Amino acid sequence: MILKFAVLLLTGIFKFDLSRSRPDIIHQFDIWHFCKSIKKKIRSKGELLTGWMRSITNHFWWCCSTCEGDVNLLKEKWMSLLYHVRNKHSWKGDSRFVTIKKCAHKKLSIKASSDVKWLEEGTPEYHALTCFAYCLQ
Ligand SMILES: [Zn+2]
Repeated sequence: MILKFAVLLLTGIFKFDLSRSRPDIIHQFDIWHFCKSIKKKIRSKGELLTGWMRSITNHFWWCCSTCEGDVNLLKEKWMSLLYHVRNKHSWKGDSRFVTIKKCAHKKLSIKASSDVKWLEEGTPEYHALTCFAYCLQ
């Protein structure tokens, strides 16, 4: 499932490589297109994840723009979302992650952290996001 996502993304990166004359526009268009698809999938989950839509698409954009074509790095970055949304920014004990062991952002201030409506494991919202993250196709 996640592999389909990676292959789909690599298709976009491949297009990027073929379009050396205007790589910025083509690459951004592909990511924009995927973000549009992500928003559509989030909306299909009803209201559960709408509060996280911007964060999810921003995270996706960040994953695409920093993976340097490395599928494994892309997957790890993408799946780190499932920790971040629970206000967990480090996952050193999770063997599914080889390269990425913590969020790339700076440590959140108490105020910044308290302003976020974090998800909790076991809630319908978190379940919906987990399904979404694994099943993105
Ligand atoms: Zn984080």
